[in-house]
Amino acid sequence: MPIYEYRCPECSIFEVISPMSAASDQQSCPTCGGAARRKMSVPNLSKAGTSAFQLIDSSERSASEPQVVTGALPSRSRRKSQPYTTNPLHSKLPRP
Ligand SMILES: [Zn+2]
Repeated sequence: MPIYEYRCPECSIFEVISPMSAASDQQSCPTCGGAARRKMSVPNLSKAGTSAFQLIDSSERSASEPQVVTGALPSRSRRKSQPYTTNPLHSKLPRP
């Protein structure tokens, strides 16, 4: 439900939460009981869904909830020893 602001000429500004169908131009002041007129104010638009909000939200979430790795870890690059020769008879030779 939207929040409507009313300005009492005798007191101050007060807020009333009411459905849009029941919002009236005048409301009785809760302090003095006088007639208060509805005040035009800036709507409180949601910023959720903007790219800036998503960036801030993801960076704040990563501080306490780091992303879980679901895939396999990257394989280490294992270097196979390069054979000096492919002749099987050379394997019988003494090694240094
Ligand atoms: Zn008042």
